[in-house]
Amino acid sequence: FGLSGRVAVVTGAGQGIGLASAEALCEAGAAVVLTDISMERAEAGRAALAAKGYTAEAAVIDIGDSASINAVADRLAASGRTADILVANAGIAHAGVPAEDLSDADWERMIGINLSGAFRSCRAFGKHMLAKGGGSIVTIGSMSGSIVNRPQQQVHYNAAKAGVHHLTRSLAAEWATRGVRVNSVAPTYIDTPLLTFAKEDKPMYEEWLDMTPMHRLGQPAEIASIVLFLASDASSLMTGSIVSADAGYTCW
Ligand code: NAD
Repeated sequence: FGLSGRVAVVTGAGQGIGLASAEALCEAGAAVVLTDISMERAEAGRAALAAKGYTAEAAVIDIGDSASINAVADRLAASGRTADILVANAGIAHAGVPAEDLSDADWERMIGINLSGAFRSCRAFGKHMLAKGGGSIVTIGSMSGSIVNRPQQQVHYNAAKAGVHHLTRSLAAEWATRGVRVNSVAPTYIDTPLLTFAKEDKPMYEEWLDMTPMHRLGQPAEIASIVLFLASDASSLMTGSIVSADAGYTCW
């Protein structure tokens, strides 16, 4: 997966799947920009990679704010370092809420970050990739974008991730002849800080494991390796694919 000479931007790279993806891209030789909602978080990611011997940059991108996304995309392009790879990873989750009790604010925040944030990121970086004539975007969807996992009451999260999957296909089709590929990884439950709320609910957590054929959570590195494949030329014929990495969850 040689990526030397490529510039890669990862959103939500301070921890979890974003940080693991940044590490995999660094390992493959890309010049990686780790971004997160605050410089403190982005720096935490950069420092974690530095401790492993990788050199990377840190920058602020709040995917809820187009201006902050555009600023990084435009700055890189203006300095002749247009991003070749975008991992649109940043996202949020929270404990289940019955659909009938979900507030407008909670609905709009979830859609605004997880779906609109992915679109804003693809738009900002995709524009420069199109102008340059090439690029690879990897979005992070979820098995929850394809199936309704129990016993969560996550109608807003599920709808947002289904939106990410179809956003991925739609952009892929629109940009296919212009050199920009767009694919998605749809993970099962991955052992990151995002799942803290779930681990605290022991019966629910046990039910999740019982419903997972492999009977375990995934590790961030197990998603990062798929991100790396999709980001690289090894997947050159793939665009609009939603790659399932779900420990067998959707087999049952
Ligand atoms: P995480 O909570 O460990 O990390 C998410 C990162 O995103 C954090 O560093 C956070 O600061 C950042 N972030 C949050 N809001 C942001 C914003 N507005 N702008 C920029 N950055 C922001 O989460 P994770 O588990 O690593 O999840 C990463 C992605 O994978 C998310 O899109 C999530 O929905 C998806 N996903 C996670 C799981 C799982 O089980 N962990 C499963 C399927 C999909």
